[in-house]
Formats: sequence, structure tokens, C-alpha cells
Amino acid sequence: MAKHDPEENETEVGKARLFVPDALVEDAEVALDPGQSHYLRHVLRLAPGDPVQLFNGRDGEWLARIDRFAKQGGTAIAERMTRTQPPAPPALVLAFAPIRKQRLDVLIEKAVELGATRLCPVLTERTSHGRLKRDRIEAQIREAAEQCERLDLPELDDPQPLPAFLQDWGTDIPLLLAAEAGEAKPLAELALEFPAGSPIAFVIGPEGGFSARELAFLTANPLLRAVGLGPRILRAETAAIAVLALWQGLRGDGASRPPGRVG
Ligand code: SAH
Repeated sequence: MAKHDPEENETEVGKARLFVPDALVEDAEVALDPGQSHYLRHVLRLAPGDPVQLFNGRDGEWLARIDRFAKQGGTAIAERMTRTQPPAPPALVLAFAPIRKQRLDVLIEKAVELGATRLCPVLTERTSHGRLKRDRIEAQIREAAEQCERLDLPELDDPQPLPAFLQDWGTDIPLLLAAEAGEAKPLAELALEFPAGSPIAFVIGPEGGFSARELAFLTANPLLRAVGLGPRILRAETAAIAVLALWQGLRGDGASRPPGRVG
């Protein structure tokens, strides 16, 4: 039976919150990778016995205690669940044309904070930065999820050409294309056509926008609806933030408070 001091005050609960792949059950020994171990030991200056919050996207959030640090990583022992794993949220898919690194970093981090459930890099004719470093993006996703206290991670697709993405789309999730030109209904208006909690997907173009051929191809796609984000031309990362924030506030979880969070 894991020891637990009922008097332990909440502020003592781990300052650190880490994503781990291992199962989280009482008394489980959980592996910390070398980076996590270094962060806890040398950045947060924590020691064995100190608490950390762990989540794995399946078993909720757990208070764990650092067990030991070692060269090739460390271990922690799961003590008690502090937040239950919520049901998977409705799909909130963001398909985006990869953009230059600094801006892509912002897009990825904000998409995680705003609750995107799946990230789909799509290669368009004017995509200028098609080569993505998957492990770097996966680390950014984990860090953003740890910071914003999500209990799940969005899926990350491999990059694919936009036509192939549309070809494979198949599912019945509506696709809203953020179109900075042409006929496009304002997103705030179009969102109201959907019931709250609807699954949805957004497509954001590259820095250079969609080519005329792509826009013709896209707007001919029956699955796709064009949405507008106002009269200004937004940077791709701004458009990504705008569609996710607007959608969450109108039809998603933007209006709800996570259970158990006060103030
Ligand atoms: N075509 C512009 C820039 C495109 S901005 C140019 O060449 O300067 C990158 C993407 O952000 C666009 O493809 C579109 O998906 C989205 N976007 C930017 N401003 C938008 C707006 N006002 N309404 C809808 N989408 C917009």
C-alpha cells in the first residue's frame, strides 16, 4: 500500500508535471527518461521522495514520488490519482501547411493549448518548409500539454500533400477551409450552424496562401466549406489560433471550466 500522508497540503503536490508513456496505477514504478530526470534533478532541484504529477493520456493524472535518479534516467512511484481521465473530447482537427520554424513552434504550442486533438501537416503548392522534424514537434507537443495541464496529447500525422489528405479524409467530420479571399462565411456565423460539441476540422494555408488552382480544387470539394476570419490577412499561425479559439469558445470547451478547478 503506497504511503500517503492525508495531511499533505495541496501546494506540496508536484511542481513538475510530466507526460510518461508507462501505465499509471498505484505503486507502479514509472520510468523517467534522461531529459526528464535531468530536469527534475538539476533544473527543479528535486530529490527522491519529492512529489511530481504524471499523466499518460490514458489513466488520468497521478501524484507520484521520485524514487531514484540514474544516468540513463530515473524512476518515480505512482501514489494516487489526482484527476480522472476525462472522456476523449470531440475531434478538433487542424490541418496546416508547414511554415518556417519559429512560426511553426508557435502554431504547434498554441494548437495544443487550445485543445486540438489531431495535427495534420499538409503540403500545398506554396509550402516553403515541407521538412518537419517529427521528434522535435512531438517534444513540443508534450511540453505544451504538460504546461497547459491537458490530460491527453493530440495525434500528429505525417506530412502529406493536400490532395492526398483530402482524398483520405473520408470521415464525416466537416472540413472548414480558412480562406483569406473569395466567398467565405465568417467563422463565428458558420459555427452556429453546428451543434455544440460537434467534431470539426480546419485547413490553414501556407505563408503564400493557397494557389488559384488549389482554391478551385478545394472549393470544388463537397466536404469543404470556406470560412473567413475578418478583413485582414492573418499569418498562418494567427489563423490557426483564431480558428481554434473561436471554435472552442462558440462550440467547444472554451466556455467550460475543467472540473475541480476553483477560481
Ligand atoms: N494569401 C496571403 C497570405 C496567406 S496567410 C498572402 O499571400 O499574403 C496563410 C493562411 O492563413 C491562409 O492560406 C488562410 O488559410 C489563413 N488566413 C489568413 N487570413 C485569413 C482571413 N482573413 N480569413 C480566413 N483565413 C485567413
